[in-house]
Amino acid sequence: MRDVEQDHDEETPYECFACGKVITAESHPENCQDCGGEMRNRLTPLE
Ligand SMILES: [Zn+2]
Repeated sequence: MRDVEQDHDEETPYECFACGKVITAESHPENCQDCGGEMRNRLTPLE
C-alpha cells in the first residue's frame, strides 16, 4: 500500500492552520498567502 497521494495534475484544497483560509493548489503551499501560517491538506484527516 502506498501512502495516500494526490495526482500532481489535480488541484487539492489546503487550509491554513492559523486563519482557516482555504486555497486550492496543485502542490502543497509552504505558507498561507494571507497570514503566512502553516497549510495542511484538507483531504487528509487530522488525528
Ligand atoms: Zn492564514
